[in-house]
Amino acid sequence: MPSAPLKIVRTVKDLRQQVGEWKQQGLKVGLVPTMGALHHGHISLVKRLQEDCDRIVVSIFVNPKQFGPNEDLDKYPRQERQDADKLTEAGVELLYAPTVDEMYPDGFLTTVSITRMTEILCGANRPGHFDGVTTVVAKLLLQCLPDRAIFGEKDFQQLAVLKKLVKDLDIPVEVVSGTLIRDEDGLATSSRNVYLSPEERQTALEIHKSLSRIVTDLQAGTRTVSEAITAGEKHLLEAGFNEVQYLEVRDAETLELVDSIERPARVLVAAVLGKTRLIDNMAIEPAYR
Ligand code: AMP
Repeated sequence: MPSAPLKIVRTVKDLRQQVGEWKQQGLKVGLVPTMGALHHGHISLVKRLQEDCDRIVVSIFVNPKQFGPNEDLDKYPRQERQDADKLTEAGVELLYAPTVDEMYPDGFLTTVSITRMTEILCGANRPGHFDGVTTVVAKLLLQCLPDRAIFGEKDFQQLAVLKKLVKDLDIPVEVVSGTLIRDEDGLATSSRNVYLSPEERQTALEIHKSLSRIVTDLQAGTRTVSEAITAGEKHLLEAGFNEVQYLEVRDAETLELVDSIERPARVLVAAVLGKTRLIDNMAIEPAYR
């Protein structure tokens, strides 16, 4: 049962007032930043943070700065009423849902930008995307000043970039990682899955199969990294994907490319199916000798 009904605030002032009251009472506050259209991946982040925070703030903000000109900003699902019901059920105390004007008032001029690690993977295919993400997350963290904030491994590069943001800017917030949640059939849960037709959804399952195969092959040493990647790309294109934007094996911490598995690694993919771009990733553990 929730400890109190969900409260909704839309301004930085109201957010700070509520979080300030909690902090004065000595309570630990956790923040879960989202773009809404909440699913059980988001709720798993709430549950994880409830383990070590007394009060949870979820933010819902479809951030225009992280969408490219030809991306899905206009059609991105917005369903605040249903989201609020899910948050109430999960026992969340506060929903922060600012307007675009509240977040970026007239005259807003600042961009928070991280180099190098944003130029690869999704950054190479979505110019400006990570500048939008780091700018809005820096703002959300400074607006709320929670003790902890959680981000999911579903967006593995984003998680690494946001850890770097907090470290480089000395933002006094502890970043927690949330494990990647999948639907029962293996598809990584995503707000964008609603774009898939039933047929496309079947095809989309091949991503999970491909990644699993790559992980198995590399952990068993039955294929080299380059053989596994070539086979995986071929598999996805034959299954009906229009494009594989990247399929790469990288160091799980530095995100540098690797050609053998000596340390924990990650296989990461972005592939386009019809009009939908899907991302996924999986851990690869080195064989301990
Ligand atoms: P989004 O609303 O898609 O911007 O996601 C908000 C947060 O939820 C991000 O930290 C995502 O990484 C995380 N998230 C989204 N989908 C999943 C999932 N399937 N498993 C774990 N975390 C997720």
